[in-house]
Amino acid sequence: MKTDIEISQAIDLLPIKKVAQSIDLTNNDLELFGKYKAKIDFSTIQRLSKNQEGKLILVTSINPTPAGEGKSTVTIGLGDALNLIGKKTVIALREPSLGPVMGIKGGATGGGYAQLLPMEEINLHFTGDMHAITTANNALSALLDNHIQQGNELGIDVRRIIWKRVVDLNDRALRHVNVGLGGPTQGMPREDGFDITVASEIMAILCLAADLEDLKFRLGNIVIGYTFDREPVSVSDLGVQGALTLLLKEAIKPNLVQTIYGTAAFIHGGPFANIAHGCNSIIATKTALKLGDYVVTEAGFGADLGGEKFLDIKVPNLKKAPDAVVIVATIRALKMHGGVDKKELNTEDVSAMAKGFSNLQKHIENIKSYGLPVVVAINEFINDSENEIVALRELCQSIDVPVELTSVWEKGAQGGVALAKRVTQVIEEQTADFKTIYQNGMNLEDKIKTIVTKIYGGNHVVFSKKARNQLATFEKYGWDRLPVCMAKTQYSLSDDPQKLGRPVGFTITIRELVPKIGAGFIVALTGDVMTMPGLPKKPAALNMDVDKDGNAIGLF
Ligand code: ADP
Repeated sequence: MKTDIEISQAIDLLPIKKVAQSIDLTNNDLELFGKYKAKIDFSTIQRLSKNQEGKLILVTSINPTPAGEGKSTVTIGLGDALNLIGKKTVIALREPSLGPVMGIKGGATGGGYAQLLPMEEINLHFTGDMHAITTANNALSALLDNHIQQGNELGIDVRRIIWKRVVDLNDRALRHVNVGLGGPTQGMPREDGFDITVASEIMAILCLAADLEDLKFRLGNIVIGYTFDREPVSVSDLGVQGALTLLLKEAIKPNLVQTIYGTAAFIHGGPFANIAHGCNSIIATKTALKLGDYVVTEAGFGADLGGEKFLDIKVPNLKKAPDAVVIVATIRALKMHGGVDKKELNTEDVSAMAKGFSNLQKHIENIKSYGLPVVVAINEFINDSENEIVALRELCQSIDVPVELTSVWEKGAQGGVALAKRVTQVIEEQTADFKTIYQNGMNLEDKIKTIVTKIYGGNHVVFSKKARNQLATFEKYGWDRLPVCMAKTQYSLSDDPQKLGRPVGFTITIRELVPKIGAGFIVALTGDVMTMPGLPKKPAALNMDVDKDGNAIGLF
């Protein structure tokens, strides 16, 4: 089997103008970035707002193994397969972050014969959105430090600043830094730190904003720290929301690319799925919905985490719920949930797979509790045995949930036809009756308890002393009616990555709450959450190179 980059480099790409035509856009609607990438003009987005919306398909997954279960791959392959069976389909996905690209996780453009192109450009600097978000974030840091240096009229307590600088790399050495050293003319010394760009609240805001005005409003609401009197200080207090919006005016326009099969795909925004909601932008999803009869999109991590946040945070902003949800499962991950060691995952073990099915079953129940139709997609790996696949089909059928095998990674669009047909059939036959799992009128404590008991299947929530105090303070500030953004391990339904399968009777501990008032949610941290990842001993960067003609080498 060829590598992803070898497959992608062998494809003759369509000019992006041609891809645009396939979804009824003209050259006038595009702002071209070379031949194969384009942004969509604001006037086009406005014009499209009158169009009817297509059907929305959300792709999510069981609790994954560290390698990922192939959500992006299935999302892309399903989009291609839908087009192949004659359904006008547009894909909407997140933009990759350079940190993981150079590190271990790889890119975010799918794999095998289900890929977005040009994959090397999308995985590297793309259309500069990450740069713009990094710059807007760090402009705010610079303006904040300058405000303090110039007399600190707002009375900001430098020990209580929560806004950090960002860079789009995995760089653990920058997690904690001191700034303003060197004497009175160099600024006020204070502790600071760097997060990875995709962890910036500005990324979450860009992805939730409906338009430029909403973007500006949300940027103004960002809380950057507290005064000596413990009152929150917002960007609007500094008066720089206009400048920040200006820096983002191009980045907020969705990016159009294509798959190996020429399917149109919007790749836009990529917030972390832990301290943010982990979905591509509202603007890109909306634009896709106005152009396609079907839109396939993805939520980060598993259905308990990214899926829940898609439904409880993104959907109310998008004002459109999915018409069907595809839950991706792999035989190897189910075996892991059934107790098989990581090294043994390629050996047939039907009973372990059946034991691990409990994890998939919980996710199916959860999505159904939102009133949404579910289809299970078995993402086929070469080592899966026929016996395991048959057994998994039977288990799904025994609980009355549609299931299809998909081999888009190996076979491309053709490998996703069965899934595409099944998903469209489910959408035609079943009506989604969506309801969120909690109401925003509930206080933060009750919202968190609802997620833990209903979605994770836990018994209790324990709040640390710090989190308890924050609950009281946030209520005072009027922040307790905002939705909750859970930050939890993706590997387990609980907050302990070792508890696989379908754990019961567990307690979730909320360590701390983090206000993201601009994005419009409160992050609830369970355990430690990494907002600046480090690089592994052998980073992917060691395999990367470029030849004399400028062709990328070793990018997966
Ligand atoms: P996720 O979106 O769940 O993180 P991705 O779609 O990015 O997962 O896939 C993770 C990795 O697994 C990618 O390198 C991809 O090429 C690979 N992969 C996905 N599906 C398969 C498959 N069926 N067989 C082999 N490799 C696969």
